Amino acid sequence: MSYKKIYLKPGKEESLKRFHPWIFSGAIAKVDKGVEEGDTVEVVNANNEFIAIGHSQIGSIAVRVLTFEQEEINHDFWVKRLNAAFDLRKNLGLVAGEYNNAYRLVHGEGDFLPGLVIDMYDGTAVMQAHAPGMHVARYEIVEALKEVMGEELKNVYYKSESTLPFKADLNAEDGYLYGGNAGNIATEYGLKFHADWLKGQKTGFFVDQRDNRALLEKYSKGKRVLNMFCYTGGFSFYAMRGGAELVHSVDSSGKAIDLTNKNVELNFPGDPRHKAFAEDAFKFLDNMEYGQYDLIVLDPPAFAKHKNVLRNALQGYQKLNAKAFKKIKPGGIIFTFSCSQVVSKENFRLAVFSAAAQSGRRVRIINQLTQPADHPVNIYHPEGEYLKGLVLYVE
Ligand code: SAH
Repeated sequence: MSYKKIYLKPGKEESLKRFHPWIFSGAIAKVDKGVEEGDTVEVVNANNEFIAIGHSQIGSIAVRVLTFEQEEINHDFWVKRLNAAFDLRKNLGLVAGEYNNAYRLVHGEGDFLPGLVIDMYDGTAVMQAHAPGMHVARYEIVEALKEVMGEELKNVYYKSESTLPFKADLNAEDGYLYGGNAGNIATEYGLKFHADWLKGQKTGFFVDQRDNRALLEKYSKGKRVLNMFCYTGGFSFYAMRGGAELVHSVDSSGKAIDLTNKNVELNFPGDPRHKAFAEDAFKFLDNMEYGQYDLIVLDPPAFAKHKNVLRNALQGYQKLNAKAFKKIKPGGIIFTFSCSQVVSKENFRLAVFSAAAQSGRRVRIINQLTQPADHPVNIYHPEGEYLKGLVLYVE
């Protein structure tokens, strides 16, 4: 093993002894000459003793740890990590094929592959590097993925233009690294959808709401459902399968509304229960009538992407939820979410609590939701828990 070294300041290895996978720039005393953005490096303590191996990066997170063992980061390493990730998803029954073929195969730190995300859509892997090291290793990762998945893998689409730190200046180009002749219809719990990885947000679909959509389906029978911030309409087609009386989908993006209509059409062609509106969520809630809906989904984009905008974000969540509390039919149900990593479960609950109090209505929490099992949280990296949801019963 002959990686360039990064030397920690005395005593700065404490968090690493607890297997936290990030090393902040403030903990570093010295860096070997010639270490470049995305290089694999060996981290040693002030006494030159081995601590970890990881990917270096410019910024406040200076190293993302790949392993705490003295091992080579080579083909076998990637195969080992990807195998472990694939095994978990097989165990969860997500790789079955006909009933479900959309799932997250790699969830960054949660799969001990910090900075790497891979979502699977019927044999097409959509791969995103959030850290330069994963960008540098992308071809090796694809080779390992081919070995691990065999015939299950038909295409790999690399999509990191917008996820890599812009300072890195890596000129990442989106495109196929394997295959390229991909259809884009996948199946989630028996329902079909288009995953538009070429033009859509993130990897093309939000697989993290799968289990929460399934819960909504159970509560939808005979209900008038409003799916706010619908994007691809995920919650809408589950509500329809659950027997909703009507489903209205709202998103400010015209493209999202087109996607929603297409996805509803795939599953329920010509079904008159569904309507989609390209409108601002806040305005739509202001204009709707009291009692018009008895099930409302609020799944907005992350209101806070950084700690310094946390206060504004919490006010945003409060404002949004207050509007739904004010208008929902008595005996109604609200599914409300936050996907901002910097908003804690407690803070989110406080924002929703304030909104409820403002409405003066009697509100109870009936379910507490989070991300599904294919988005595991590394127990040493609690920051990996990002999706929070509450299901509320409003009288
Ligand atoms: N619920 C979706 C994911 C939502 S992503 C799912 O299950 O997949 C957030 C969506 O909110 C995006 O599609 C974005 O276009 C939309 N959006 C952002 N700001 C909005 C606003 N002010 N009003 C309505 N939609 C908005």
